[in-house]
Amino acid sequence: MTRGRGRPVAVFDDTARERFLAEVAAGMKLGDAAQLVGVTPTLPSYHARKDKDFAQAFADAKARGKAARDAAKDHGEYRYNVLGGRCDICRAAATAARAARRPANDNAPSTNDPPTPAGSSPTAFSLRDFSSVPDRRAA
Ligand SMILES: [Zn+2]
Repeated sequence: MTRGRGRPVAVFDDTARERFLAEVAAGMKLGDAAQLVGVTPTLPSYHARKDKDFAQAFADAKARGKAARDAAKDHGEYRYNVLGGRCDICRAAATAARAARRPANDNAPSTNDPPTPAGSSPTAFSLRDFSSVPDRRAA
């Protein structure tokens, strides 16, 4: 029997199925997971229609993948800074964002605020002394 020319027939064997399901469960898109194990994007669905056990495993993997994507979606700098998120994802995002904003100067002070001179305050420059300004209403 000759296979003929064109796209080689991919084998969706147990090894490929397990890898496919693991990637889907981790949140990978179905098409990407199929490509990864070397099958056409429609082949897993085809097998799910023929094989009840695989259909169940496929459905579970998709549900876990969606949950994984949803869980990761809302994590990040905003959650760390504003919502108090302290998981690894949020902490890493906030650290990376801070590092990106920091000027590329190794000698820069480690805080964002300039040193405050003694006897002054950071907002003193904005205070005007109006005691010497003539009151025009009295003129
Ligand atoms: Zn988080």
